[in-house]
Amino acid sequence: MNYHIWTEGCQMNVADSQRVGSALEHLGYAHTETIELADVIVMNTCVVRQSAEDKAYGRLSSLKPLKQKNPNLVINLMGCLVGVKGYEKLQKIFPYVDVFSPPSDPGPLISHLTQGEIRSFEDAETTRRFIAMDEELVLPISEQGHLVSAYVPIVYGCSHACTYCIIPYKRGIERSRPVGDIISEVRSLAAQGVVEITLLGQIVDRYGKDIADGPNLAALLKLVSEVEGVERVRFLTSHPNYFGEELIQVIASTPKIMPHIELPIQAGDDEVLKNMRRGYTQQDYRDIIEQIRSTSPDCSIATDIIVGFPGETREQFMNTYQLLADLKLDIAHLARYSTRIGTVADRKMQDDVTEEEKMFRFRTLEDLQEQIVADINARYLGKKVDVLFEEQVKGRWRGRTPTNKLVFVESTDDLRGKILPVQITWAGPWSMQGTLPKKIEINSIV
Ligand code: SAH
Repeated sequence: MNYHIWTEGCQMNVADSQRVGSALEHLGYAHTETIELADVIVMNTCVVRQSAEDKAYGRLSSLKPLKQKNPNLVINLMGCLVGVKGYEKLQKIFPYVDVFSPPSDPGPLISHLTQGEIRSFEDAETTRRFIAMDEELVLPISEQGHLVSAYVPIVYGCSHACTYCIIPYKRGIERSRPVGDIISEVRSLAAQGVVEITLLGQIVDRYGKDIADGPNLAALLKLVSEVEGVERVRFLTSHPNYFGEELIQVIASTPKIMPHIELPIQAGDDEVLKNMRRGYTQQDYRDIIEQIRSTSPDCSIATDIIVGFPGETREQFMNTYQLLADLKLDIAHLARYSTRIGTVADRKMQDDVTEEEKMFRFRTLEDLQEQIVADINARYLGKKVDVLFEEQVKGRWRGRTPTNKLVFVESTDDLRGKILPVQITWAGPWSMQGTLPKKIEINSIV
């Protein structure tokens, strides 16, 4: 019996898919890349923008002939297309889907496969059982001994109400995972060869706020970094209102916590930020960046930007441009605004920036950012940086620096999971190349 998983969207979905894979392997299913050979197909979906939602609909439609050919095929629709509030409409459009699962919950699929019935959607038991299962989290066989870097969810859902965002509606209210579950999962991953852990949450800095007496994110990061076998710890996504001095200090003082921060600003104009209900000003954001850099000058910083939010004028957009030009961040994940039905922006605002104008703003920031990153990366030239190697791609080994820069190195040795000093010999905006120290040195390091 085989299973196939298709995953779209954020790191949380990648982590969720891994859990479904683990659960299916517990039941004796084997992973297949070939969808036609699958007895169970899981579609793990994203709806953060219209383009992602369109992809999910396209994929789902393409499954219909497979189901017609093999009525025993089990199709599981999972993730944000389903959401936490019910799926009657989807059931009508896709009658050939057998099981619907909310994000982060393999429960309904497992119940269906073991008892032949779909369990009630709001069944809290499902979540409890799923969380209990984490303690024995075993990576899918295809990833055992291969996976160098793994995602670990620590906060599910989101209770912040950014006016453009559908995530709180689809993933439910914010829930922190108990620290014991997180640590045992990290231990289990480390025992299976994982050396880098990335902790996940929509507002990851809010970790623990809903648990009495539990650690906060800074304390949790330290605990995770102390697990045997863990060499690197990362976390995402931060929010300017909750990311603070304590985290800056813990990054600076704990070598295993990597100097890389994902801190979305979304817009560099105060009026737009207010309409987005982000809860800070562009000056607040500038202050945080300065604070980070005064403690950790080499820390890399990524941000998210939405262009063409309802009512955003060219002038307001230029404030975002100016902010990026001033701050010179390492990465800007750019998105063109896309109306999500049911959000405040959908109900109360007009999607009045034309597609053409959105594209213009997108490209303008893209060009600016390419130049900024090229300059930042050029500073790595000739330097020696520790690279954690993940996999071999077309004969070259691929790895990442502590600041999350992509580095390629030519080597015939097996570098998987190793951290080695690399001399950077070429640096472009999207990746770098480097060389390893001489062989004798490698052996002494490994
Ligand atoms: N919780 C994080 C990330 C949310 S989703 C945060 O608060 O920033 C990832 C990114 O998708 C967001 O940061 C935002 O830039 C983008 N995004 C979310 N909703 C969007 C929408 N309706 N249109 C376009 N981009 C959107």
